[in-house]
Order: sequence, then C-alpha cells, then structure tokens
Amino acid sequence: AIAGIGYIGYGVYQDRHPEDQIQPDPSKKTLVILGTGWGSVSLLKRLDTENYNVIVISPRNYFLFTPLLPSCTNGTIEHRSIMEPVRTILRQKKASVKFYEAEASSIDPDRKVVRIFDNSEIRGDITETEVPYDMLVIGVGAENATFGIPGVREHSCFLKEIGDAQKIRKRIMDCVETAAFKDQSPEEISRLLHMVVVGGGPTGVEFAGELQDFFEEDIKKLVPDISDRFRVTLIEALPNVLPMFSKQLIEYTESTFKEEKINIHTKTVVKKVTDKTVEAEVTRPDGTKESIVFPYGLLVWATGNAVRPVVKDLMGRIPAQADSRRGLAVNEYLVVQGTRDIWAVGDCAVAGYAPTAQVAGQEGTFLARLFNNMAKTEALEAKIGELSSSLNLQPGNSAAISREIEGYERQLRRIKDAKPFQYSHQGSLAYIGSEKAVADVTWFNGNVAAAGSLTFLFWRSAYLSMCFSTRNRLLVINDWLKSKAFGRDLSR
Ligand code: NAD
Repeated sequence: AIAGIGYIGYGVYQDRHPEDQIQPDPSKKTLVILGTGWGSVSLLKRLDTENYNVIVISPRNYFLFTPLLPSCTNGTIEHRSIMEPVRTILRQKKASVKFYEAEASSIDPDRKVVRIFDNSEIRGDITETEVPYDMLVIGVGAENATFGIPGVREHSCFLKEIGDAQKIRKRIMDCVETAAFKDQSPEEISRLLHMVVVGGGPTGVEFAGELQDFFEEDIKKLVPDISDRFRVTLIEALPNVLPMFSKQLIEYTESTFKEEKINIHTKTVVKKVTDKTVEAEVTRPDGTKESIVFPYGLLVWATGNAVRPVVKDLMGRIPAQADSRRGLAVNEYLVVQGTRDIWAVGDCAVAGYAPTAQVAGQEGTFLARLFNNMAKTEALEAKIGELSSSLNLQPGNSAAISREIEGYERQLRRIKDAKPFQYSHQGSLAYIGSEKAVADVTWFNGNVAAAGSLTFLFWRSAYLSMCFSTRNRLLVINDWLKSKAFGRDLSR
C-alpha cells in the first residue's frame, strides 16, 4: 500500500514537473511577451515554446481570473483561489521560459529592445535594464480611466487587481466598525455606511450586487444595531446600466436592484470627488441639470479603461499609430500597425472588439497558432530546400524525393493559408446579486437572453469551467461552500 501511495505521489510530482525542459538556444529567435493577463497567458498556454527563446516580463508573477474578482471584495471567494502562479504555468512547457518580475517602461521599435525596471521591495531600490527581442507581444492591459476628474485617484478604490479587492474588503469592514463605534452621530453613521459605486458597466453592477449580498446575508445579522443605515448607490452617466446587454436584461437588472434596495442614479455624471463626498450633475427628464452631493464611506470607481503610459509612449514613436486613441491599432493578424515584429493582444490592442477577457483569450490563442505555424513553415521550407538540392545529386530516387517534396509543399500551403483573427462571441454574463445573474448567450447562431436564479447556476458553472486550473476550480468550489455554510468572514 505504501508503495502504491508512493507511486501516486511520484505520479503527481511528475505531472507537476515534467521531463527536463529544453534549454535556450542562441540560434533561435527571442520572443518577448509582456504581461501575464488573459491575452499573454492564453498565448503561453498553447505556444510551442521549443521554437523560440521565450521571455515573459510582468510586474505580476501570477495570472488572475478576473471574472470572479468582485466576489473577492466581500470574501465569497478568497483571493488566492483565483490566482495561478506564472512559474507553475511555465514549468509545464516543453522548453524552458524565462520570467522576469518587472514592469516595462518603454519599447524602442528601432533598436528592438524593451526597457524594464524592477521596483524591489526587498532591496528598497529600482533596478533598470534592457531586454532585446526579435519578436515582441504586448499584452499589458489597460489602466483605470479617471478622465482627469479631481479627487478620483486620491480617494477611490478601483477594481482591477487583487490588491484592489483586498483594499475594498478592508475598507467595507472599516466603515462598518467605525459606524458601530461608541457615540457616532447619526449623520456620520449614514455617511460611513453609504457605499457609492461609479460606473454602471458590468464591473460596477457585479460589485454593487456582491456588496448588497454581503450586507443582507452577513453584516445585517452580525452588526444589527446599525443595519438600517446601510445603502448602496450606483451612479451611471448614461440613461441605463449594462449598455452591452439587451433591453430586457437591462430592465431585469434595474428592477432586481430596486428589490435589493440598491439605488441607481442614471444620467448622472460625477464631476468631483473629495475625501467624504461625490459631487455629480444629474440631467432631469425635462433636460435641466442639477447638482447632487453624495456623502460616502466607500467609493468604488469602475468607469472603464485608459491607455497605459508604456503603450502611449510606443504609440508616439510609430507614425502609423498617430490616429489611434484607445490603444495600439493592430491589423487582422494582430500585428501592431507600422511595425513588422510587434503584436498586441487584449485591452491594450485596438482590433475592433470590446476590451473583454473573452476577446483577449481568443487573441492569445490565435497568436499561439500563428507562431507555431511560423516555426513549422520555416522548418518545412528548410526541408524542401534540402530535398530539392539532393534531387540533383540522387537522380535515381528523383520520383520518391519529388513525391516527398510535394507532400511538404501541400503541408506548407495549408499552414500558409492562415486565416486572419476573427472573434467568436460566446456571450456576456453578469452576476447581479441575491443569487441572480443575466446572460446574453450565443446559441446555435442565435441569441438567447436569460435572467434569474437558473442563470445564476449557469453563471457559476460557466465561470468554474473557465478557471485556469483544477487547483483553482477546487479552491473556488470550497470557497462557495464555505461562505454558504458558515457565512462570510467579517475580520478585517
Ligand atoms: P465599462 O466601460 O463597461 O463601463 C463604465 C461605465 O462608466 C460606462 O457605462 C460609463 O458611461 C460610466 N461612466 C464613465 N464616466 C462616468 C462618470 N464620470 N460618472 C458616471 N458614470 C461614468 O467599464 P467596466 O464595467 O469596467 O468594463 C470594462 C470592460 O470589461 C468592458 O468591455 C466590459 O464588457 C468588460 N467586463 C465584462 C464583464 C462581464 O462580462 N461580466 C465584467 C467586467 C468587465
């Protein structure tokens, strides 16, 4: 029995650390991949790394499963359940891949180098260096848009990275405990327990739903004395929330929010933020404008994406990018316009699609196939060249060699026939609180709109199946069961 356990243990160990990896070879091209998000990691997952010397550079040494990030803000899911270390991903590749935990500060397309820096906490200094590339993939994502509105950067929480979710979780409990402190004035309690979300896209809507769940299912029961003051307000500049969903799902979301007592303020544009208030301008039905001030305890800013400085800097160096505003304009093969050896994927690329995880994932997969085929093409061309020269040397075998050449040429034509990138939309899903979700799904070439509790189960199973690894999947299931059975953890 012990031998059996030992064998299983060895098997698991072997699976985690497969055969010796092929080491870098100076005769191969250097492929540098920036980022460890949806685009870059989808590319890495399917890339035959033995064809290139691959270097991955990212300030984050893990992949983050962003669709479940709003569930980390209230502890439904613990943050490590949706993180996958990049080193684990890379160790499973056939050829070794170098990883540098660093941020790219600039890209020089003429010298073909990326300038990177590592802000080392342990040494307390910044190390800067350059990494040369033959081929470069930019998958650095985007940053939070603030539109230069005063006070936003200083006073709001964003919801993009794992640290943001942790900060929100602490902040919610800080607001609750401070409101429950001895002798607080009623106005102060109301302010502290007013949670304001700006931006009615899927990020803002999902977060508002999670927040209301946290309050209804946990805070209200454990801190009952202040519970009648807790309020969630969602502010959106447009006439409705979730503009990318169908009308019927928008109405369903808005009426569910009403039942959940989440206040929605549409046609309301935030103009200024201070440490305790949000100042906005609302357009009334008769077209008149009015100012409103919302005192808040927690402010979450979810108004979409802005271009990162490293991408802006590169766009400034390439004349063909002069007219692009929202990121790197790419052609149908995801090559950055105006370059030959730089590709871009995900939220930093402008390929005509919404900046979603689904698009980034498909772009990464497309590039992996493209790069694998490019390597195969080179190998086939070399073989054909070799056989063609032997044709003259071995006239007796010419028929067999010609047949072999024809075979390779057929393979080559098939590979070279690579179709351009085309996004296939599988649908949009969003959680809206109280175990309900909305889904616009593509089904047999048609669109199906669904909403409610069954859709919530569909939402959970879809996201579970999309998790990066079995390990992540088990951790997420465990978190769901744990928060259902014991309630969410209120410790700060
Ligand atoms: P978004 O761009 O989708 O929505 C931001 C919203 O903020 C807009 O509706 C805009 O009108 C509003 N806004 C902007 N400035 C404002 C202001 N000053 N005052 C009030 N409102 C203001 O942003 P997001 O929700 O972060 O999503 C970003 C991308 O990621 C989108 O493409 C989205 O589809 C995708 N995403 C998808 C899902 C999902 O499918 N479940 C989840 C999260 C994000």
